[in-house]
Amino acid sequence: MTCKEGDGFIEALAARIRDIGFSCTRCGECCRAGPGDGNLVMVSPSEVCRIARFSGKSPKDIAEPYPESVILPDHREVTFGRALRRVCGDCLFYTRSSCEVYPARPAICRTYPFMLEGNNLRVFPCKGIGLPISLQDSLALARDLVVRREEEDKEVEGVRQLFPAIPTVPGRFLIDSEGVTRL
Ligand code: SF4
Repeated sequence: MTCKEGDGFIEALAARIRDIGFSCTRCGECCRAGPGDGNLVMVSPSEVCRIARFSGKSPKDIAEPYPESVILPDHREVTFGRALRRVCGDCLFYTRSSCEVYPARPAICRTYPFMLEGNNLRVFPCKGIGLPISLQDSLALARDLVVRREEEDKEVEGVRQLFPAIPTVPGRFLIDSEGVTRL
């Protein structure tokens, strides 16, 4: 679906979410190991800091370089951003069937199984799809989706601006909106 941006966008998005229906069943399938990389959660630098403050863990223990990279024509290998670490395939924060950092969880977790691509609402497979959702929860989810898209756009722009700062020497580099790190 496409919601038109502007006055009423959040309300229209929330109405669409209510039409689809969603309630988290706490099945943990989006947190546990499964087929493919379904529980791979990309995290921004600010999300890593927030989770570090909440959990008391160091940023390095929370996130690792995103497992995919691109090879540039001059053979430099570049990884864009970080993902939550996983232990035996499960998110490291998934313990005793719940999320240890729930109040500080990343935007991807907060908005799953939905995502905005531009103004289009994408819906991913999830057991909770089709279940009733309240007006209040649908509005909160719609707001979180818009905030997530804005943060992701900012991150992409930060990376675009810093991209020329990747050293022109062979090697593996990680880039995010806060800088370039040699891996
Ligand atoms: S941060 Fe929490 S909600 Fe997100 S994948 Fe990990 S355990 Fe699940």
